[in-house]
Amino acid sequence: MNLTFNKMWNKMGNRKKCYVCHNSFRHFTKFKKGARGINNFLRQLQMVGSDIDNYGCIYCGSTDRERHLYMFFDKLSFWDKFRNARILHFAPETPLSLKIEQLLPAEYIKCDLFPIEDWRKIDITKIDFEDNYFDLLICNHVIEHVPDHLLAMKEISRVVKKNGVAILQTPYSELLYSHFEDRNINTDELRLLFYGQEDHVRIVSKRQFFDELSQYFTMDIVKNQSLFSDEECFKYGVNKKEDLVMVINNKIKE
Ligand SMILES: [Zn+2]
Repeated sequence: MNLTFNKMWNKMGNRKKCYVCHNSFRHFTKFKKGARGINNFLRQLQMVGSDIDNYGCIYCGSTDRERHLYMFFDKLSFWDKFRNARILHFAPETPLSLKIEQLLPAEYIKCDLFPIEDWRKIDITKIDFEDNYFDLLICNHVIEHVPDHLLAMKEISRVVKKNGVAILQTPYSELLYSHFEDRNINTDELRLLFYGQEDHVRIVSKRQFFDELSQYFTMDIVKNQSLFSDEECFKYGVNKKEDLVMVINNKIKE
């Protein structure tokens, strides 16, 4: 079968549907080789993160983690929070950022440490904004790339207003008691082997991650399974184990 035929064949099906652009097809594209490419070490860690077998939409390019935010935001009527709000969005996903712009926020800053297009260059461990500036901050699968993630949490808590909200998704291990990282895992090859991606700097332990976040924020974890059926997760290509890591900035700051 040639590539064109494969694409046509995919578009003729309707097992899957993109929650963002509403197109139906047979299957999402995989991230790299999908779950088949995961090594035995990583398999044992009970990782919860991207659904790499159901990654990209063939029409709009949305990724599973982006579609998942759409689903959560719809169900929670979260979009209302964007109107007239000051928003900081790290590594902004294109369809999601277009939607946010349509909601007419007071200020919407798209940023990254390695910016493209109209993004601003911002280091998450040194956010060049005054205290209590943002109503909302989105950081969807970013923290696993940050060497000093505790400093990032501290900075997020500094720039988000009191009672402001941050969305802090990250892939994590449900098995590990503590984060796994080692200074000698310092090449692309080793990081790929032990962390699953060349640009990840650790395996995040869910237990430790939630514990660390709790030092700065009130946790408001929204369970995927409290909102969506397995059938919906299958259809829309999202990880049914991935919950929404929402935190509220209402702790006393030292
Ligand atoms: Zn789509």
